[in-house]
Amino acid sequence: MQIKTKGIILKELANGDEDKLLTILTEDQGVIFAYARGARRFKNQLAPSTGLLCYSSMVLFRNRERYSLDHADSIEQFFGLRKSVEKLALASYFAEVSAVLGPKENDEGQFLKLLLNCLSFLQRDRIDWMLLKALFELRASSLAGFMPDLVSCAGCGCYTAKQMAFYPNEGTIYCTDCSAEKKGIHIFLTAGALAAMRHIIYSPMEKLFAFTIGPESIRCLNDAAEQFLQSQTERNYQSLEFFHSLVSLR
Ligand SMILES: [Zn+2]
Repeated sequence: MQIKTKGIILKELANGDEDKLLTILTEDQGVIFAYARGARRFKNQLAPSTGLLCYSSMVLFRNRERYSLDHADSIEQFFGLRKSVEKLALASYFAEVSAVLGPKENDEGQFLKLLLNCLSFLQRDRIDWMLLKALFELRASSLAGFMPDLVSCAGCGCYTAKQMAFYPNEGTIYCTDCSAEKKGIHIFLTAGALAAMRHIIYSPMEKLFAFTIGPESIRCLNDAAEQFLQSQTERNYQSLEFFHSLVSLR
């Protein structure tokens, strides 16, 4: 069965001397694996569209659960991200997370839209990188069904407190009084970080990127988002370690 869709390459693996095995986030088939015959050959028509983060209109052939990529017309190759090692490292982390958390079936393009928006904002330097990283981690987690409960304290139900503590293993917040009695890893959130987390989780996509917070809140938000994602998916990310090795040197 022939399928026309749009998709972005999350991972490319060599398959023999000439072919590639691709992981693709599509707009209406979820994350799929597809063979691209001849794509490792320099002059092959698939070669320019099958690199990491290339976004294309695609024609795929599906035989049961196996896909092959027959044709791809490039829409956006994100060349701007490839000019900076740090940006490419962060974008590669977004791709690795998308391969893990991306939808298994049609999600009406929600996940793809989030990833494309994040890559575009990163490419154009439209938003602080660390804020963008946290935004992606939290929103991607919640799209995948790992949605933290940030409405009120999980102990007493209060909505505002002097300070709230976030428990990444549970995805809950506790007020200062309740967290004094509760064990477990937690991060005390600044007011800005908590407001940002609520915005990232609960706001519609068109308003998602329209906010800003101070540097201390960004650090705090980043800790919370990163620990939440790692804890919920129960794994570490190689590309994240690489990104941290670069940004800590700056
Ligand atoms: Zn409480």
